[in-house]
Amino acid sequence: MKKIWCLNDGVSISNVDANRFLFTFSCESDKRQVIHGNPWTFDKALLLLANYDGLCNPATVPLTTQDFWVQVHDLPVLYMNPVVRELIVRSLGGYIEIEQSRTRLWVGSFLRIKVHLDVTKALRLRLQYERLPIFCYICGLLNHTEKNYGVRATLGEVEPRPYGSWLRAALEGPNLQGWSGRTFFTQDPFAK
Ligand SMILES: [Zn+2]
Repeated sequence: MKKIWCLNDGVSISNVDANRFLFTFSCESDKRQVIHGNPWTFDKALLLLANYDGLCNPATVPLTTQDFWVQVHDLPVLYMNPVVRELIVRSLGGYIEIEQSRTRLWVGSFLRIKVHLDVTKALRLRLQYERLPIFCYICGLLNHTEKNYGVRATLGEVEPRPYGSWLRAALEGPNLQGWSGRTFFTQDPFAK
């Protein structure tokens, strides 16, 4: 993990239970870097991280949320106004961050917003998620894949599969590499 996380100092890892580990960082800046670099994956599966204060049983620390950058695409120009934006933000349970400043909120034709995602709930079909790990194309949950359905999935007995790889955003932040061929807004469409 030290290599994956590009840490300056070491990290010690101990098992809490079969799927839960305690990471102890040698320096605070390494920990901040890891927390800020969320979401992380291990074997393509989501690695949920939470701060642990050392005061309770680490097995009881809730691991149910994860911050994700999501993109809302294909919004009609008529919807690019503060009212619709607030409705979208509210439907996502609020936001943590928007792209740098209000003027960058709308990038080209899509809205990019960092949300606090409840990973116990299914992914939303109308969103595209940046750095999305593996998930189930049948029910949209992040904690398993179709393999969990065994031979039933292979035989097509658990169709339909409303979710798919299109939920992965092709462009990822923070600088949206590969974006140069698309159109930018030079002004904030919400500016009054
Ligand atoms: Zn499923």
